[in-house]
Amino acid sequence: MADGFAQSVKQQADIVRIIGEYIRLNRSGGQSFKGLCPFHKEKTPSFNVQAAQQFFHCFGCGQSGDVFTFVQKMENISFPEAVRSVAQKCGIPLPKREFSSPEEAQASRLRSKLMEIHEQACLYFEEQLQSPEAARAREYLTGRGVTAEAIREFRIGYAPDSYSTMRDRFQSAFDEEVLRGSGLFSSRDQGDGAAGPMYARFRKRITFPIRNEAGRVIAFTARALDNDEKAGPKYLNSPETPLYTKGHVLFNLDKAKQAIRQFEFALLVEGQMDCISVYMAGITNVLATSGTAFTEAQVRLLGRHTRQVVVNFDPDTAGANAAEKSIALLIEEGFSVKVVTLEGGLDPDRYVRERGTQAYIAALRGARRHSDYLIERARTLFPPVTPDAKVKALNFLLPHMQHIPSRIARDEFAADAAQKLAIDSALLRQELKQAAFARRTDVRSQSSAAPGWSEAEKLLLRALTLPIGDPARDAARQRLTEEPALYEGLAAASLLAAFAAAEEAISNPFALAPDEASRHLLATVLMKGSQEIQLEQVENACQSLRHSRLERRQRELRRSLAEAELRNDAITVQELMAEKIALDRDLREG
Ligand SMILES: [Zn+2]
Repeated sequence: MADGFAQSVKQQADIVRIIGEYIRLNRSGGQSFKGLCPFHKEKTPSFNVQAAQQFFHCFGCGQSGDVFTFVQKMENISFPEAVRSVAQKCGIPLPKREFSSPEEAQASRLRSKLMEIHEQACLYFEEQLQSPEAARAREYLTGRGVTAEAIREFRIGYAPDSYSTMRDRFQSAFDEEVLRGSGLFSSRDQGDGAAGPMYARFRKRITFPIRNEAGRVIAFTARALDNDEKAGPKYLNSPETPLYTKGHVLFNLDKAKQAIRQFEFALLVEGQMDCISVYMAGITNVLATSGTAFTEAQVRLLGRHTRQVVVNFDPDTAGANAAEKSIALLIEEGFSVKVVTLEGGLDPDRYVRERGTQAYIAALRGARRHSDYLIERARTLFPPVTPDAKVKALNFLLPHMQHIPSRIARDEFAADAAQKLAIDSALLRQELKQAAFARRTDVRSQSSAAPGWSEAEKLLLRALTLPIGDPARDAARQRLTEEPALYEGLAAASLLAAFAAAEEAISNPFALAPDEASRHLLATVLMKGSQEIQLEQVENACQSLRHSRLERRQRELRRSLAEAELRNDAITVQELMAEKIALDRDLREG
């Protein structure tokens, strides 16, 4: 996309309004806004948006950039796509589509073709579910209580028992790259490196489309109709494609997100069938992880809609393990988590069908705090009757306690655990403190790695990021270009040099920072002043850099002089003395 267009969109877009569509921002003074970071989970806002300079920065996780970077990260799209998306949000008419490289244009075309083939495949499977061959699939669905309405709503379909039917039908509409890239077809390697003929990946299976947050079909999961070995795995998923990354999607988020915001919590179940039953029973804020444990990407996705989760995984061992892992991840990211265990060892799907919606809602109301659930798990796994078992139960709980961000909640958890496991609570608190101390020292050693920038360096950094044409920017660039000695010994030398070398406006100054510590520091520096910089300040900063360079040299000279005197090296002493006298004079006059 033409850079000029991106620049013009950026000038017209209000970063605060655009970011405000994704997360809640509050004014924190002047042109600064604060909110909870969408890229890492936190309870106190460390995500900053600067309206004047049009950038964001998170002091928690170090993410930063301009409005395009933000949209790119949030939507997981390319730069040109982000520019288009922001332009659309601002009502700016789009130019004819242009890409910065042929590869980018190619990738974008492929993605939209892949979207199209998935939609077509979904329609095809839906149609096949009505065919005579699919009689058994329909019986199975009816047997599981899946109504015609649910079939329509979730677009459940059937992949026929044929290697070629679907391929033959799609071959005329899509070219080979799209067919192969879609993951809907498989092929065997010919042995000579060439891919063999394609055949349908899903056969004799009930298909469930996986949709992205916008509701577009991006992949499928398909359940085998037969249980024998020949049928392959019970559930078969699409492979990863340019549209679909495993663990990055939450099943049903497109339909559930509104209800999640409305009820202010999400119900998390394991399987798609659970999700469908519960949703059709009228509990519409339900999501499925579609795998076992929750992933970090899923937590982040969910965190954009709510911070409260009720977890209702299967009661088997795998379910309990998945629940524990998911709880740990959610707690660490600052979510409030409750856990439901259904009586009778039922999974959500069967519970809803056998006991009815009202009973399920009652069970949800009875959800326990995650700490109570975990203590109960610990007591079941290691009945605390011997000291040895108590230690094991404690070791099971400690990691969970440590990950609770709030100290009050942590202490409460510890007190409960101590009481229910009959452990000395002072001892338990001590264990926790040690763990917490280890964590804090971690953080401290990180922040001490931050480079030390002088006030003069900070001022020049600010000046160099001013808009093109600002006299202070021009002056700073000129000084640094004409007098490279100014960089000598500076902590911010490489960053200043990179800024000074930029002919155009620097759209993302953070991209030039070498590490996270410098990025944080740079954000602090840039946030400080939206007020203009006087030429005199630039001159003073340069003068101060010269001065400190001379002072540094003076210290070096003193050291070298002392050494030369010790060695009785008269010639060197003389040379150094001459330099020192000149230097002392410069320093007095400067
Ligand atoms: Zn962050």
